[in-house]
Amino acid sequence: MNIAVYPGSFDPITLGHLNIIRRAAAVFDKLIVCVMVNSGKRPMFNRDERVELIKRTVERFSNVEVEWSESLLVEFMRERDAKVIIKGLRAVSDFDWEFQIALVNRKLDSGIETLFMPSSERYTYLSSSVVKEMAKYGADLETFVPKEIIQDVIKKAEDEGWRA
Ligand code: ADP
Repeated sequence: MNIAVYPGSFDPITLGHLNIIRRAAAVFDKLIVCVMVNSGKRPMFNRDERVELIKRTVERFSNVEVEWSESLLVEFMRERDAKVIIKGLRAVSDFDWEFQIALVNRKLDSGIETLFMPSSERYTYLSSSVVKEMAKYGADLETFVPKEIIQDVIKKAEDEGWRA
């Protein structure tokens, strides 16, 4: 079975992420969306909330699973017998960093490949940070995040607690 992992912060999941998930799920037998827990960042949604929001959004895809990890990505992949990392690229500016990470991951485990998927042109401007900024000012979120989670983002944005 060909298993790929799509790692990220997903704080929160956007329509850009969902577009990559849909396309990657069509190519692999199984796609695991992995919420990477980074203790250095102060997230809008905590780990379990992020996993739950993604699960709600990807329910319709039978070969997509959602998990979280706070270990090294290559370790998580070995445990799942996954060989491919999926990364979405929005612009050339994403490339430098992602290329570096891809090389590091290959150094750590030569059996793991990184595949880059170009963002759909509709979503090249879209990031979780943009969503958080727009939510703060009460903008319409329909063109940014999956409809299943709009209310959760609005609610969280109204609650000042998450802001650093
Ligand atoms: P963000 O930059 O939105 O905070 P994440 O860390 O959650 O993103 O990103 C996870 C993965 O999704 C990365 O590979 C990133 O390049 C990709 N990605 C993020 N937004 C988009 C988008 N709009 N289109 C395509 N890929 C994207």
